[in-house]
Amino acid sequence: MDDSRPKLMIPGPVDIPEDVRAALAVPTMPHYGRDWIRMVGEVQEMAKRVFETQNELLVMPGTGTMALEAALGSALEPGSAVLVPVNGFFGERLVTIIESLGLLPVRIDVPPGEPILPEAVAAVAAGHPESLALAVVHHETSTGVLNPLEGIASVARERNLLLVVDAISSLGGVPVPVDTWAIDVCVTVANKALETPPGVALLSLSSKAWQLIAARRAPRGWYLDLRTWQWYAENWADWHPSPVTMPTNIVNALHFSLLNLLEEGIEVRHAAYRKASSIVRQGLAAMGFAMLAEEAYASPLTTAFKMREEVDAAGLQQALLQTSGIMVSGGIGALKGHILRVGHLGLARRHDYSVAFLLGVEAYVRRCGVALPVGISLQGLEHVS
Ligand SMILES: *Cc1c(COP(=O)(O)O)cnc(C)c1O
Repeated sequence: MDDSRPKLMIPGPVDIPEDVRAALAVPTMPHYGRDWIRMVGEVQEMAKRVFETQNELLVMPGTGTMALEAALGSALEPGSAVLVPVNGFFGERLVTIIESLGLLPVRIDVPPGEPILPEAVAAVAAGHPESLALAVVHHETSTGVLNPLEGIASVARERNLLLVVDAISSLGGVPVPVDTWAIDVCVTVANKALETPPGVALLSLSSKAWQLIAARRAPRGWYLDLRTWQWYAENWADWHPSPVTMPTNIVNALHFSLLNLLEEGIEVRHAAYRKASSIVRQGLAAMGFAMLAEEAYASPLTTAFKMREEVDAAGLQQALLQTSGIMVSGGIGALKGHILRVGHLGLARRHDYSVAFLLGVEAYVRRCGVALPVGISLQGLEHVS
C-alpha cells in the first residue's frame, strides 16, 4: 500500500486487506451465465452464515441506505405507522427515509451516547397499537453505542411488528443472529465489517416480510421494488438472477472477503475487534480521556471519546492525519467538537494501527502542555493479551 496514504481509522469505509483488493482487479465478468450464478450463489450462502439465517438474501448494487429505503418502501403501504427509536445520526436518517416514503414515524427519542432500552420501546409501542413495524439501528455509528437488539427484537415479536434492522456497521463485527432474534429485514453493506470496497448492500427478508411485500398495493417504482428482485431471482434463476447489471468485480471481492472471514472464523474476527477496541480504550483512559458510551453499551467496532479540557478535537484530528498519517472522524451534530470517533473495522483491527493512533494522541496531548509519562498510552497492550 502507498505509504503516503492515510490509514483509515474511521467507522467506514475501512481499509481493505490486500488480497481482497486484488480480487477487484480480475477481468470483469458478465452478470449472467454459469460462472456468475455460481459466484453470486456462493456469496449468498456464505453471507447467510454470517447473518445466521435461512431467509432469502439479496445482493443489490448500491448503499445500505438504498436497501433500507427499498425494504421499507416495498413492504409498507403509505400511511402506515412505524416505530423508530432514535439515539443518533443514523436513527434520524431512518426517520427521514420513513417520512420520505409517506410512512408515519412514531419516534422514541433517546439522548445520543445513550442506548435504546427495550423497556422504552415497549412503553411507546403499547401507546401506539396502530404501528405495523419497528425500524431500528443496531450499532449507532455516530456515537459508538451498540443498542441491545435482542431485547428490542422481543418487543417487536410480542407485538407482531415487522422488524427492520439497520445492521450496516454491526453485521460481521458482532453477532447478529437474524433467525434467533426473528429479524424480518436485516440490512448490511460490503464496506464496513465485511471489509470489502463499497458497492453492494446485502439484505435478508423473512417470509413475513415477503408476505407484506406481495400484498402492498400503492405504486412504488420498479428498481427499488423488491418484487422486481424476487421475480428475477425466481424466473431467471439459472441465467440472469438480477434485474440490472451487477458490479461483478465488487461481488468477486466480497466473495474473497467472506471466504477469508469464514476460514478465519467469525468468532475469531469478533474477538479481534474486541481486542483492538480494548487496547485503544485503555490507552485513551490512561491519557485522561473519558468514553462517550457507558462500557456495557460501547460497541467494539467504533470508539467515541470525549475531549480533555486542554485538547481541541479538530486540532487532534488534524495532528493525527498530518503527523501520524491516521484518519479518524469527528462528532456529528451537537457532538461536533466534543468527541472524536476511531473505527476498529478493516485493517484498523491490527495492532500497528492501534499503536500508531495511541502514540499520535500521546504526542499531541503533550504538545497541548499536559505532562504524560512516555508510553503511557500503550499500557492497554500489557493488559490485553
Ligand atoms: C454507514 C452507515 C449507514 C450508511 O450506509 P450507506 O452505505 O452509506 O448508505 C447507515 N447506517 C449506519 C448505522 C451506518 O454505519
